[in-house]
Amino acid sequence: MENEADAFYRELPKVELHAHLNGSVSVNTIEKLISRKPHLNIEHGMTAIGKGQRRTLDECFQVFKVIHQLVDSEEDILMVATDVIREFAADGVKYLELRSTPREEKRTGLTKKGYIESVIKAIKNCKSEGLDIDVRFLVAIDRRNGTEVAMETVKLAEEFMQSTDGLVLGLDLSGDPTVGHGKDLLPALLRAKNCGLKLSLHLSEVPSQQEESNLLLSLPPDRIGHGTFLHPEMGGSQSLVDQVVTNNIPLELCLTSNVKGQTVPCYSKHHFQYWYQMGHPSIICTDDKGVFSTNLSQEYQLTATTFGLSHEAIWKLSQQAIDWIFAPDAVKQQLKQKWEAMKPQVFK
Ligand SMILES: [Zn+2]
Repeated sequence: MENEADAFYRELPKVELHAHLNGSVSVNTIEKLISRKPHLNIEHGMTAIGKGQRRTLDECFQVFKVIHQLVDSEEDILMVATDVIREFAADGVKYLELRSTPREEKRTGLTKKGYIESVIKAIKNCKSEGLDIDVRFLVAIDRRNGTEVAMETVKLAEEFMQSTDGLVLGLDLSGDPTVGHGKDLLPALLRAKNCGLKLSLHLSEVPSQQEESNLLLSLPPDRIGHGTFLHPEMGGSQSLVDQVVTNNIPLELCLTSNVKGQTVPCYSKHHFQYWYQMGHPSIICTDDKGVFSTNLSQEYQLTATTFGLSHEAIWKLSQQAIDWIFAPDAVKQQLKQKWEAMKPQVFK
C-alpha cells in the first residue's frame, strides 16, 4: 500500500464483499511466508503490483500462482487468513465476506476440507480476540477446473454451511475468465442455489462473454463480480443490463483491480459511473488488496475523487452495501445500528 487514505475514509465504517483470500495477503505477511520458504527464491515484486504499474489480466493470474506456492499448508492458511482479517478490521471494515478456492497439496497433507477449516479457525480466533469485524466465508469454484470439481466444491460448501452456523454462506465463481465456460458449471451452481447457498459470480470480466453472462444471469446470481462488459457501451447488450436491473442484482466493483489489470482503461472510464448514475446497487470492493496494493478506504476515496462524490454520498454508498451482504436480516439490522452510532464521529 503506497498511500494512506484521508481520515474520513479510514473512519468510515465499511462492508467488504469481494475479497479473495490469497490476493488480499499484505506485504508483511508475504515477508513472513518468504522467510518460511526461502528455497522458493520468491521476491516481493512477484506478488504485488505497485502504484502506476499495470499488468495484463494473464500476468495477474501468474502472480496468484506465485502466492499459491507460498501458501500451501494449514498453518499458512491460518496465518494468512488471520492477518487478512486483522488488516481489514484495522481499515475500518465491520463486515467482511472472504472468498477462496479450497486447494489440496499432497506434499503438506493439505486437503480441501482442511483448507476451509483453517479459514474458519482464523475467523473464530479473530472473533475471540474481540476484533470489531463480522467475517463470513464464500467457497470459490475455480472455473478452469470443470464440472466435476465444481460439483464437489458445492457439496463441500453445503456441508460447511450446515456445520458452521452461518459462517459459510455462499459460493463464488472465479478464476481466469478466458478459460472454461459457464455452461459446464451451471448444474453445480443450480444445486448450490437450491440448497440455500448464495451466489456471487464473476461475470463479463472480459469482453465477448455475452452468451455466458446471459446463461448465468438466468440463475439469477445474488451478486455480480465486476460485470465490466455487461453494458452496450462496452460491447455488452441492453438485454443483459435489463436482466441485471430487473432482478436488482448488485455489482461488486473494484476500481484499482480493473485499472491495474487493464480491463478498464482508466479510473474515469470505470463502469461504476454507468451503474451508479442509474441508481443501481453498486458496492465498492478491493478484489485483491495485497496484489493491487490498496485497501477499502483508498477505494472509497478513489471513487469519491474520480466521480466527484460528497462525503454524504460516500456514506450512503457504504451504508447501502449492508443491504447486499449474504448474512441474515438480523445481522443487517445490527450493522445499520452500528453505522448510525458511528455517524456523528465520522462527520465530526
Ligand atoms: Zn474477484
